Amino acid sequence: MRVSLISPYPDITAFGVRAISAFLREKGVATRLIFLPDPLGDTLTDEPDRYPSAVLDALAPLCADADLIGVSLMTNYADNAAQITGALRGRVTAPVLWGGVHPTIRPAECLEVADMVCVGDGEEAIFDVVRALADGRSVADIPNIWSRRPDGTVARNPVRPLPPDLDAFPAPDWSHEDHHIWDGAAGLVPLTPAVTRRFLAGGTVSRLLGRVGYQTMTGRGCPHRCAYCVNDAIKSLYGAKGYLRWRSVAHVMAELEAARAAMPFIGYVWISDDAFFARPLGDIREFCRQYKARVGLPFSCLGSPATIARDKLDALVDAGLVYLQMGVQTGSPRIQALFNRQAMGNEKMLAAMAVINGYKDRLLPPSYDFILDTPYETLDDRLESVRFIAKIPKPFRLQPFSLVLYPGTKLAAMAAADGLLTDERRDVYTKSYTMRRPDYVNFLILLAKGGRFPAPLLTLCAAGPVARALGAKALEPLWRLAFAVAGPARRFLKRLLGRPT
Ligand code: SF4
Repeated sequence: MRVSLISPYPDITAFGVRAISAFLREKGVATRLIFLPDPLGDTLTDEPDRYPSAVLDALAPLCADADLIGVSLMTNYADNAAQITGALRGRVTAPVLWGGVHPTIRPAECLEVADMVCVGDGEEAIFDVVRALADGRSVADIPNIWSRRPDGTVARNPVRPLPPDLDAFPAPDWSHEDHHIWDGAAGLVPLTPAVTRRFLAGGTVSRLLGRVGYQTMTGRGCPHRCAYCVNDAIKSLYGAKGYLRWRSVAHVMAELEAARAAMPFIGYVWISDDAFFARPLGDIREFCRQYKARVGLPFSCLGSPATIARDKLDALVDAGLVYLQMGVQTGSPRIQALFNRQAMGNEKMLAAMAVINGYKDRLLPPSYDFILDTPYETLDDRLESVRFIAKIPKPFRLQPFSLVLYPGTKLAAMAAADGLLTDERRDVYTKSYTMRRPDYVNFLILLAKGGRFPAPLLTLCAAGPVARALGAKALEPLWRLAFAVAGPARRFLKRLLGRPT
């Protein structure tokens, strides 16, 4: 049996398809990985066709010998998955299965295009599908799998319990064996370590650190339940108990050693767990001890304000942590309550920032994520965020994201019920988090992004009367213009100063 797994993401880390490929290979199933990095990336459009027809023409022969074709997708890649699936129809005989976050949240919708949908964690479910196809059996009773029966009715199966032991799974497949990529003008070509290196070097954090980054996850899940996050929706599907799981330190180290041996160009490790700091202190200390001895590369990770603590940071910085990202999201207590982040209020966040700031001589400026354009925010809520930014100890960077109301989240349901989400295609499926509303308050946050803007001036600009005057309707064209020129001007200046753009 052969399974072709297709990833449409610009980032070729594509953890999901690599994890499934490794699991299937361990079970004796041949897999082929095909990376089709979206040419638009975050520059989404309402134009459903993302790939030129030449790419899709080359894809069909590459999938011709497959017994099953898997496509991974998040909500913003539904158009990619539909275009890929449409192009394969009639040209290949294998059924097309969709998996990932979007099919997990919207299986019925995905089944209108795909032949099968995998809900939730996919390794075991997809292996069950492969075995059923090999034996000529129906897939209609496989847990996690939705499919259409011959009579046209939909077989909806519940999810199986989450596998508790992540060490039972192999590390993601970075073998480069039967891996392929759409490499722009070169077409659909075998993915070699040299091509991998080039793609990984183009990642945001790689450019920031000037090193080629290897991304991994040491666990699955998150301890928090933010109302705008798909983690909350997936937790509701499985139940919170047992959702957050960690791989053992030895399992992670074996992966990192193997990755370094196969890709000697790796210059740092990006640990992309949603909340790496949620690992217990003893575990983090053991991680650091083994990491120093067996890997020894600089690394970065993410933490939540509720879990960042000095003793954990001490161990991590000593082991080579150079860069840290933390979610702040808003400085307004009212919006924190709406986001279900009351446990991570302003005092808690400033305390975590003070801890991080204590390492400013050994860490790059930390990155703090903010969410803009929340429909329930008043001007005062937004100004509270700006005034909060003025209190953040320097140095820091901000990553301001425009809120996308992802399907399945509590916030999306609330906004839809309140009439604040009426066009999902425009406001969700084709909305990128880079599409910030071009107004005065967001411009202030952009000015503060690099962490250099003087705090007293920022506080003054966020004073109610000033903000009401400068944010007046008559001045809206001015801020639209400021947004239009700010990005290119920033990139030009960075190029001039030789900084990563
Ligand atoms: S802390 Fe981050 S990953 Fe966890 S639920 Fe909140 S937004 Fe999602």
